[in-house]
Amino acid sequence: MSAVILVTGGTGLVGKAIQHVIETEPEGSRFGQRPGETWIFAGSRDADMRDAKQTLDLFEKHKPTHVIHLAALVGGLFANRERKATFLRDNSLINDNVLHTARITKTEKVISCLSTCVFPDKIDYPLTEEKVHLGPPHDSNFGYAYAKRMVDVQNRAYKEEFGCNFTSAIPTNVFGPHDNFDLKHAHVIPALIHKCYLAKKNGTPFKVMGDGSPLRQFIYSRDLAKLFIWQLREYDSVEPVILSVDEHDEISIRSVANSITRALGYGAGAQFENEIDDNGQDRKPASNAKLMKLIGEFEFTPFEQALDETVAWFLDNYANARI
Ligand code: NDP
Repeated sequence: MSAVILVTGGTGLVGKAIQHVIETEPEGSRFGQRPGETWIFAGSRDADMRDAKQTLDLFEKHKPTHVIHLAALVGGLFANRERKATFLRDNSLINDNVLHTARITKTEKVISCLSTCVFPDKIDYPLTEEKVHLGPPHDSNFGYAYAKRMVDVQNRAYKEEFGCNFTSAIPTNVFGPHDNFDLKHAHVIPALIHKCYLAKKNGTPFKVMGDGSPLRQFIYSRDLAKLFIWQLREYDSVEPVILSVDEHDEISIRSVANSITRALGYGAGAQFENEIDDNGQDRKPASNAKLMKLIGEFEFTPFEQALDETVAWFLDNYANARI
């Protein structure tokens, strides 16, 4: 069977991880390239998907039968807080163009990407798939959150009106090679890796905001990539699936920072600034019960190994990384 799989956002953290898995897993295996498959990894240079015409041109060029839709304006806490209208508008335009174009070009299947950070701010934990819309998101990222939540609404509307096979994935915090390591705008792990690297290089303290106590779930981008490939091949329902490590595999920011000092060989240790206001929520665990029930066997990469691979990539690619 021939399939053309277009990965939008194919040049980013998750897109590069999918490309890595497709190229390195044994051919014909559960996550490797299958006979008859063509994979296209598109970035914003191939099409600015805020633009309807460029999106249509990209679809007409490659004629995808399947789409993993990752393209998005993505950022950490500061970027989200400072640019709410931009996060709302850019992501709404991108998602609307991709789903509309997929429908009119009769694309067989689209998996789009939400995030556990779009869940309601005040909600009972653990997060589960049916809680996405049960209350307003945290004020700091409501632009990004509402744009992402609308994807789930659109998927259901397209299924009901046009019978489209559109669905979505909800990953937790992702990290890995090709991440954005910008000190101000990155997510916590890449930002701390970069900070620790500079502290080691300049002989300065490695300062970490907050007291290090909050707990978070982190998924290695190459594990997440396998889960997307599974969802593409083996899951056909409009209902979203949380793609995450187990809810009990939370790690404290303190432990993350200490692991980073180990991985980078920074001997002086992390200094926590202890301003509780910088902590964010204590924990916001997400359940991966639905995923594990459906996928059966799946081995997540141990955190320390994934971190070592990420740090090694960062050091090897410092000159060209997003910093
Ligand atoms: P990155 O920032 O690493 O990559 C974003 C990708 O989107 C890049 O390929 C970028 O292209 C592309 N892109 C951005 N704007 C446009 C545009 N206007 N038109 C076309 N393409 C565009 O993001 P991630 O890989 O981290 O995120 C992938 C998906 O996962 C996103 O949907 C995100 O919301 C979601 N997610 C991410 C999490 C995380 O912790 N990183 C957590 C949960 C969900 P280019 O680089 O060529 O400009």
